[in-house]
Amino acid sequence: MAQPEQQNPQNKNDNFFNKNPLITFAIFSIVVIMLFKAFVGDESQLGSKVNGSSATRTQEVSYAELKKLIINKQVEKVAIGQTYIRALSADGNNKTAYTTRRILGEDTKLTDLLDKQNIDYSGFNESNWFTEMFGWLFPFLIIIAIWMFFAGRMQKSMGGGILGMGSSKKLVNSEKPKTKFEDVAGAQEAKEEVLEIVDFLRSPGRYVELGAKIPKGVLLVGSPGTGKTLLAKAVAGEADVPFFSVSGSSFIEMFVGVGAARVRDLFEQAKKDAPSIIFIDEIDAIGKSRAAGGMMGGNDEREQTLNQLLAEMDGFGTDTPVIILAATNRPEILDPALLRPGRFDRQVLVDKPDYQGRIDILNVHIKGVKVDSDADLEEIARLTAGLAGADLANIVNEAALLAGRKSQKTVRQADLREAVERAIAGLSKKSRRIDEKEKRIVAYHESGHALLAETTKGAKKVSKVSIVPRGLAALGYTLNTPEENKYLMQRHELIAEIDVLLAGRVAEEVFIGEISTGAANDLERATDILKAMVQMYGMSDVAGLMVLEKQRSTFLGGGMTQAKEYSEKMAEEMDQFIKNTLYERYADVKIRLEEYHDAIEKMVELLYAKENITGEQVRSIIEKYEIENAIETKLEPRKEKSSTNKILIDE
Ligand code: ADP
Ligand code: ZN
Repeated sequence: MAQPEQQNPQNKNDNFFNKNPLITFAIFSIVVIMLFKAFVGDESQLGSKVNGSSATRTQEVSYAELKKLIINKQVEKVAIGQTYIRALSADGNNKTAYTTRRILGEDTKLTDLLDKQNIDYSGFNESNWFTEMFGWLFPFLIIIAIWMFFAGRMQKSMGGGILGMGSSKKLVNSEKPKTKFEDVAGAQEAKEEVLEIVDFLRSPGRYVELGAKIPKGVLLVGSPGTGKTLLAKAVAGEADVPFFSVSGSSFIEMFVGVGAARVRDLFEQAKKDAPSIIFIDEIDAIGKSRAAGGMMGGNDEREQTLNQLLAEMDGFGTDTPVIILAATNRPEILDPALLRPGRFDRQVLVDKPDYQGRIDILNVHIKGVKVDSDADLEEIARLTAGLAGADLANIVNEAALLAGRKSQKTVRQADLREAVERAIAGLSKKSRRIDEKEKRIVAYHESGHALLAETTKGAKKVSKVSIVPRGLAALGYTLNTPEENKYLMQRHELIAEIDVLLAGRVAEEVFIGEISTGAANDLERATDILKAMVQMYGMSDVAGLMVLEKQRSTFLGGGMTQAKEYSEKMAEEMDQFIKNTLYERYADVKIRLEEYHDAIEKMVELLYAKENITGEQVRSIIEKYEIENAIETKLEPRKEKSSTNKILIDE
């Protein structure tokens, strides 16, 4: 399960033991045996201890000799055990312990003799086979107990262990979760998207009879702590099917060849228990694009594991009710082979929660906590823009701990506020809170993108606008829905894309009065499109139909630079053309945004309050504004959200 890194400090401590299990085992055995010997001592000396003095030496004698010693009064004490007799010599400091085997039936005569000689005698309990065996076994039992304890912990932390080498019998977590959709707050869209899977797992027969194709693999995309694992569990919980989970990163720590074997076992188990769900957390750890590995050949173990995963996914038909859910924060680095039809061909965005989402999540987690009547979760939600569900769960828990430390009966608003401050101070770099000023800038920037996307012919329609930060770099985003199966781009569509990209920057200039660094990525992409139009598509007067740059083959590492095949003059003209066109488009976009000034203000207002708004909301604001101001729409009737399974993001 991928939690924010700070939540799992144990993994790091275990590392030495994980990597050196045999050394660990050896050290433990030696330490335990030494301790045991030191405390319990050697069992074989038990007899000599019985006499209450430590004999300096032991001597075996015959029964007759012992008798002689007694008759001569050369011993002072005698101890009789079950099988042998000990006698301690009487001669001063230099004591000797004589031992001899007992003879059946002789004893009465011996005690008579001792009585006669007036020598003290007593019986003693010899260590028998049982205590001796126990003496040997005991240290081993301790070692085995400790070993099992550690092996268990290792299995938990690395999802694998030495005892289960090569098999996943114990390595894969299998459970039947009780988690339900109601435990996953917010994330409405994501829940709707996986609803179909739940239905399929509940009654696969119905779908199979219909011949309906259910996705085999679904990629849950979102930052750490946004509830991907939780959602996957909820799918299993709702459908009441077993949930097999592994973490992608655990494969990489394994011995060579084990990863692939584990994948095989994992699928075997899941198929045996079908209908079932396989959940692969951090799939990017095994699914990193092979091309991204570069010339170094990459990681063999990873590649084998990935190949096995692909083979397994291809190996069963859509009529086998096993669904594979995988989680990642970075879908863009995944090997394209993973995303092909029949594999993870569907993506579900599990995003950080917006304002309402945060209230809902806080409500879920505060359920088991006693709160004061002054608690105001709306305020806490306002203070935590940009935080993920896991952060919010932590905040509630932290507040309860704080209240407990102060011996309060209930959690007060002050505790919650303090917990927020602590959480924010301890946030990892990946997760951050945006302040009010940034929020305002981002709201205008994104509204600019959205407005242009909705009023420009040939632009991709908006499906969602958000000012919830996705990571450190992206403070907000506009989600586009590309039309399906689109391979050709017409010239006006490329220009439309440039307009949409520039609109973020233009909105900052028009509405805030000052530009920011937030448009860097937009400008880079706009420049790239123009460059391609000149160099590859023959869409400019500068180069005409002449192609200046061959389409690079990504096969041989797309990064290789090619010698320029055009003149310096051409290069200069091209630069000039790109620069001028960008200015031209910029001016055009500015006019458009000014024309829709109040519509943008409306959008910003809504976005500011809700943090996420849908494409429909954007369209309704624009349509209303157009009607009120008698602006003729530049588009054919706006279409409903087209169904698509790829996620395209405009930052
Ligand atoms: P991910 O797999 O995306 O990294 P997790 O599913 O492991 O995140 O989330 C960690 C914890 O954070 C969950 O166990 C839950 O307590 C809390 N959490 C995250 N998102 C939500 C949510 N939408 N609703 C309720 N709790 C959440
Ligand atoms: Zn932008």
